[in-house]
Amino acid sequence: MKYSDLAQAQAQVLIDLMKEGKPFLPFLKPGDPSTINGLPYNPTTGKAYRGGNRVMLWLAGMVNHYEDNRWMTYKQALSVGAQVRKGEKGIPLRKVIFPNGQEADNATVVQPPHPKGASVEPWMDKPRTFPFSVFNAEQIDGLPPPPKRPESTPHERHERCEALVKASGAVVIHGASSPHYAPRADKIGMPYPERFLEPAGYYAALTHELAHWSGHESRLNRDLTGSFGSESYAREEMIAETASHIMGVELGIGHDPTQHAAYIHHWMKIAKEDPNFFYTAATAAEKVCDFLGLERFTYEPLPQILPPAELAEGALDRLPVLETAVAVIAKAALVPLGIAM
Ligand SMILES: [Zn+2]
Repeated sequence: MKYSDLAQAQAQVLIDLMKEGKPFLPFLKPGDPSTINGLPYNPTTGKAYRGGNRVMLWLAGMVNHYEDNRWMTYKQALSVGAQVRKGEKGIPLRKVIFPNGQEADNATVVQPPHPKGASVEPWMDKPRTFPFSVFNAEQIDGLPPPPKRPESTPHERHERCEALVKASGAVVIHGASSPHYAPRADKIGMPYPERFLEPAGYYAALTHELAHWSGHESRLNRDLTGSFGSESYAREEMIAETASHIMGVELGIGHDPTQHAAYIHHWMKIAKEDPNFFYTAATAAEKVCDFLGLERFTYEPLPQILPPAELAEGALDRLPVLETAVAVIAKAALVPLGIAM
């Protein structure tokens, strides 16, 4: 499958969901253990997937009702002594390799030239993209049960949010009628915390505005000039929503994607013209989280039983064809999610 076809197929999955008025990110309840455990990660490396790959796996987990958030390649399953069940279809993801052989972590993928002319490092020029497939732990036999993340109290979670906001140095003015960020004044306006039903809702709104704040020209320098209803506004909104979703998981405060309704129409239109939209927005969202110094949870990698080089020849014969896998996720996405907008 050509890379452009993969991008198109992945964009179509999200467009189809939005067409039905469904959010493209899962609803996360604050403090829910499944929220805390909600980052799709690779148990053979212990690291979470990033950027667009993370979004695709969130979506695949949501539409297929997987409780397990571990994903790995067919080969990686074998390397830890496990086996993908016969007939299971993988989820296609993308890997980006730069000309110097360095692999992008999906947070350093080159973006289209910034309107204000930010330059691109020469070694990052002309990266090549390779498709690969991963399987959910629920499609694999022989894995140990998933490890749990350490539990935290609401107080500890709110302290972490406060620390993140404080460390950013953002100016937050309370008393506003609704949460917003004003780029020209470079200030975040927030209603008083007691106006929210619960503290987690206050912090979820604040991390969203903090994501916008990171885009100021003195910081990550994103285009914040769009007026409400414009394409650049909708693009920025997708970045802020994805970033606050990542923060919602890492900080354990949850995230409510039903606020999306106002933008879905714009996002569908952009994605139809630019199938890479979701990936570039998710990449920018990872940069926001890195810029804010969000602490990322990592897991202990599973012990390797079989080094990948010693994998038996023919063990990969049963790898499903990528085209089939794309068809599966596209079809699965049409299954109602039971999430009301
Ligand atoms: Zn916003």
